[in-house]
Amino acid sequence: MEMRRSPNWIATASLGGALLLALAGVGILGFAWIPGVGWILLLAALLLGALGIRARQALLEHEAALEQRESQAERMRLQLDQQQAAVDNLADGLDVALFICDAKATILYANRRATELFRFEQPLGRTILAVTLAYDLERLVIVAGATGEAQSAELLFTYPEEKVGIAKAWPSRDETDRLFLSIYEITDLRRLERVRRDFVANVSHELRTPLTVIRAMAETLLDEPDRELTERYLHKVIGEVDRLSMISQDLLVLSAAESNPVRKQSCDLAEIFRGVVQQLAQKAQAKGLTLSFSGEAPCIVEANPAQMIQVAVNLVDNAINYTPEGAVEVSVRAEGEMAVAQVRDTGIGIPVEEVPRIFERFYRVDKARSRATGGTGLGLSIVKHIVEAHGGAVEVDSALNQGSTFRIRLPQAPEATDSAR
Ligand code: ADP
Repeated sequence: MEMRRSPNWIATASLGGALLLALAGVGILGFAWIPGVGWILLLAALLLGALGIRARQALLEHEAALEQRESQAERMRLQLDQQQAAVDNLADGLDVALFICDAKATILYANRRATELFRFEQPLGRTILAVTLAYDLERLVIVAGATGEAQSAELLFTYPEEKVGIAKAWPSRDETDRLFLSIYEITDLRRLERVRRDFVANVSHELRTPLTVIRAMAETLLDEPDRELTERYLHKVIGEVDRLSMISQDLLVLSAAESNPVRKQSCDLAEIFRGVVQQLAQKAQAKGLTLSFSGEAPCIVEANPAQMIQVAVNLVDNAINYTPEGAVEVSVRAEGEMAVAQVRDTGIGIPVEEVPRIFERFYRVDKARSRATGGTGLGLSIVKHIVEAHGGAVEVDSALNQGSTFRIRLPQAPEATDSAR
């Protein structure tokens, strides 16, 4: 801190005191013959000296008080800085995008989420429209500023990619013309709602198709009670009823996998796939396909055995269904800390642009073919859901008319990786 100098008058007083003291000495010594002069000078010197000391004391006290006030101000500044940092931290930790703007929608502040949502770097001094390219958002701020009333709306943002958010703009309660703007992103929520809506529509459609067939056949039989036709149609009716019960069975499996927590136990993935290969050997043989399994060592995972069997059945069954000729090879092996089960076929393959969609519920590359194999369109979504719920992942490599390879990776049980070390 800067040292303060004694004001001139104190220095003068002290100097004067010293001079007078000197004069007093001279007076006492040299002018003793003039009675009283020396003493008067001495007295004056003492008086001025005392005045100087008192003034210095006052100055020191004044400086101490000033220092105290300055350190108080410093502490308050520090507290304010800390409070500001806490507010910034809080705003940056929120999952809501926040802006502070003026009445012309010029940005004065933007939190971390806002910069992430609209991917800008330097928002200060730019307008809401300039950084978000959302005219409706800027309008919301301007209207809130003009009316003094909070405004809110659900908006679709197109930049930098399509997103949906609930935006709210409201004026500050102080006298400034500041406005606050918050945006809560609900893209995932809206997407889930759409998936659910589509799912219900798809289920209704999937159920309606066999029901329509059954009804049409029943009506024909009522009109033409012919023995041969009756037998043929009844077989078809049984086929459609089986299809309906398969759909409802798969829906139940999917809903159970979604709603119940996974009950895990140690199980050997190799053993599970080997068992399923045995179970489906006859089906493969009937189609003239070679179905093989490789994987000698146990591959222990913490998993729900029934769900793992379901995964294995869906993958191997698909491989058989979509392979007109050739082979289906199933293998299970350990890869680092993961257990990897692979089902490879020499079948019809999947067009590259369709690959990302095959895990969607009811999605089939070729509806008629899937129907002919008795498919429900739910098998792979069940696989994906179960594997991901076990902390694993599903991969697909496929080439049209050459074949497909489906791979699932699951974490090996810790004791399995420990003993392998
Ligand atoms: P589906 O009951 O129709 O088999 P899935 O959910 O099991 O339903 O599979 C979805 C779609 O993915 C199938 O309809 C099919 O088009 C394609 N698919 C699945 N597995 C294979 C495979 N091994 N080879 C070729 N296409 C496949």
